[in-house]
Amino acid sequence: MVETLSIAVIGAPGVGKTSIIRQFIYNDFSEAYTPTRTRYVFRPSVILNGNMYELKILDVPPISSFPASASQEWLDLRCRGVRNANAYILVYDICCVESFEYVKMIKQQIVENREGSSSEVPILVVGNKRDLQRQRFMPRRAVSVLVKKTWKCGYVECSAKFNWHVVLLFKELLGIAVARGMRQNHTSIRLQGALQRNRCTVM
Ligand code: GDP
Ligand code: MG
Repeated sequence: MVETLSIAVIGAPGVGKTSIIRQFIYNDFSEAYTPTRTRYVFRPSVILNGNMYELKILDVPPISSFPASASQEWLDLRCRGVRNANAYILVYDICCVESFEYVKMIKQQIVENREGSSSEVPILVVGNKRDLQRQRFMPRRAVSVLVKKTWKCGYVECSAKFNWHVVLLFKELLGIAVARGMRQNHTSIRLQGALQRNRCTVM
């Protein structure tokens, strides 16, 4: 049985959300900036450590806040499917402190607005534009410790431009999702293998 996992990619405008997704799926990058105005869904199939997953990746256009209720999500087309996503990738630009503040706000709202145990949904914070490392606003180690220890989220830095750590971040997120028991309904779970081996292939 192939499992579908929906992943919402959220972040301030221009941080590189669309670039990360396009690099992951198509090995493609554009220097030109085309703002994403409507919600777009990508549906790649991936194999992680021998298990196949159908991903539903939501490229979420700029939203002022995480939808606080199901009706709010329903009214705003940009947010459709965001509340019930199985996992979140929150992207910021390592050179732009405001984009980090935005990610911090969305992370808090996800935890507050998703009810019960679903507030423990896997969240991966991604620092993009690593190639512009010299202009970063905070040392990598400091952000990593803050995000992992205080926020209890995963943390990866990548460069969509140079396709550096892009596959790794999706692999990392799936790894967290599997480890948190996302596949708890399926006894065929091969957690051991998923954590030990290190492969992720886009079909
Ligand atoms: P989005 O609004 O978050 O979807 O951002 P885009 O993916 O459209 O990217 C915004 C701009 O940042 C574009 O001009 C991209 O070429 C550029 N960009 C995206 N990722 C990187 C990166 O890793 N490094 C650099 N230097 N530029 C990037
Ligand atoms: Mg975009």
